[in-house]
Amino acid sequence: MSDSDNRGETSPSSRHNPVAGFGVTFKAMFKRRLTEQYPEQKKPTAPRFHGRHQLNRHPDGLEKCIGCELCAWACPADAIYVEGADNTEEERYSPGERYGRVYQINYLRCILCGLCVEACPTRALTMTNEYELADRSRASLIYTKEELLAGLEETMVDTPHAIYPGMTEKDYYRGLVTEAAPGTERQVATSKDEKSEKPEDQGVDA
Ligand code: SF4
Ligand code: SF4
Repeated sequence: MSDSDNRGETSPSSRHNPVAGFGVTFKAMFKRRLTEQYPEQKKPTAPRFHGRHQLNRHPDGLEKCIGCELCAWACPADAIYVEGADNTEEERYSPGERYGRVYQINYLRCILCGLCVEACPTRALTMTNEYELADRSRASLIYTKEELLAGLEETMVDTPHAIYPGMTEKDYYRGLVTEAAPGTERQVATSKDEKSEKPEDQGVDA
């Protein structure tokens, strides 16, 4: 490249043909427009888009998370905080011995890589297609278990509640439990819940 080019001077050919400089503009005028009218028109994401996480439930409403913390250990951004606790017959959140008492994901840190989903042994943690995660405060971007837990379907009863009569934890993973047992009632949640410990950064840092 010559010195004159480096100084941004026009080449002899463009000096003699001033219209040539508009070539790029004219070509762009006839190309398909890529402008998206967000947020009025929201474009659907790819089916496997990595969006906000979800903590899943069994078909009767019990939680799949067992509080093992493998997701937190797998996270390269240190964005997950988990505290496990023991189930009791009077207050049961998952079919097995343990459940995730506190669960937080810090979306200020999360890079939506999905490694936590790969690490989860129970498929408790998956990712949705939801991508609107902006907010006005740092604390509100630390999502709690309550915000991440999947909603209740018709076959479900909210936790805590008893395990399906006659079924074991393994039966749940074999898909033998397809709905809440008739007459299942929600138990009284006497243990300290997550809401009373947060929002002031009990777990992951903002
Ligand atoms: S998606 Fe990646 S960065 Fe976000 S919580 Fe999971 S492992 Fe961490
Ligand atoms: S979401 Fe999965 S990996 Fe994370 S604590 Fe719960 S069961 Fe373990």
